[in-house]
Amino acid sequence: MSGTFFKSVRKHIGKLDAVHLREQYGRLLEEVEFMDRVFNSLSEGMLVLDATGGILKSNPAAERLFGMDLKSVLSYFTIPLGKASKRELTVTYPETRTLELQTVPMNNELTLVLLRDVSAEKQRTAEELEVGATAAVRSLAAGVAHEIGNPLNAISLNLQLLARTYPEETAIAECRGQIARLDGIIRGFLQALRPSKPNLLPGSPVLPLGKCLEVLKSQFEQRSISVSLDVARSLPIVAIDNAQMEQVFFNLLKNALEAMHDSGHITIRIWADDTCVYIAIRDSGSGMTSEDLAGLFEAYHTTKEKGNGLGLMICSRIIRDHGGSIGAESRLNEGTTFTITLPRLEKRIRQLEA
Ligand code: ADP
Ligand code: MG
Repeated sequence: MSGTFFKSVRKHIGKLDAVHLREQYGRLLEEVEFMDRVFNSLSEGMLVLDATGGILKSNPAAERLFGMDLKSVLSYFTIPLGKASKRELTVTYPETRTLELQTVPMNNELTLVLLRDVSAEKQRTAEELEVGATAAVRSLAAGVAHEIGNPLNAISLNLQLLARTYPEETAIAECRGQIARLDGIIRGFLQALRPSKPNLLPGSPVLPLGKCLEVLKSQFEQRSISVSLDVARSLPIVAIDNAQMEQVFFNLLKNALEAMHDSGHITIRIWADDTCVYIAIRDSGSGMTSEDLAGLFEAYHTTKEKGNGLGLMICSRIIRDHGGSIGAESRLNEGTTFTITLPRLEKRIRQLEA
């Protein structure tokens, strides 16, 4: 039964007699029951929330996927209301799995929440990439090491010798700095393709973030992009691999730069609560539509002519390996916020012991 049918009933409703009304009502009821059956048998979880976050409608899959009753879910996870967003959650009960939570704002102040179990998919992509990447990486790594790495080393050594003869020459130091940067880029590139488990140590996200901002500083300045940083005064310790986390920040900030016109703003906020440390990176860039958001974090999803669509996939993999999660909220033409959640060290230890 189609929407046009109901529209036509509505149009003529004043002219329908009781018998016809009853008949149409019966059809309507049948249709509603049918839609309910569909809704209840979907394997994807679905929730409809009102403007205050109250649950108007939900299906059994939603409860099954979360593994707990939905009222507790809402007190556990903050779901952005009236906004397009997508994030991944790791749920540990009854078993560990990765869920993907997407919100779609409806025009009548309601928010549709879609929930999917992506554990198997993530596992598969990781494996595929590993298989696909090894051959590519092997030849690439060999090529890069010889064709670029070795000459860079030679140049660096020669510059070192020159620096001894001309200790006053600032250009030499500048060249050596640039070479170190190139070396870092090559290393980062190789690391991006070769998935490696993080080497987690107690630390703080502030350090790798600072390093990353330093690297990108000249780019921000060139494009008159202001960066504001708001870090809570005392942050709890998290388990972190500084090099990998630097890569996450680099990918996110690079995307922000690519999404913005000159003289935009990036706002970075780091704070914590009883369980987690949060890092939010907000840009004043192009933003994304709900459709764009749907493909986010998937390998090869890109809207850029020269993009590879690997950046966010790598970010999500690294964050997941840290026991955390990453998500995005966006408004078209207004900007995007990526939020990383990392469990506090004590909690992470408990998670691993469980
Ligand atoms: P790439 O940058 O190579 O396209 P990514 O995985 O880094 O790959 O990003 C995937 C896509 O997500 C981008 O092509 C873009 O459409 C979207 N995206 C990512 N970050 C932002 C952002 N800050 N603002 C707007 N769109 C973004
Ligand atoms: Mg990118």
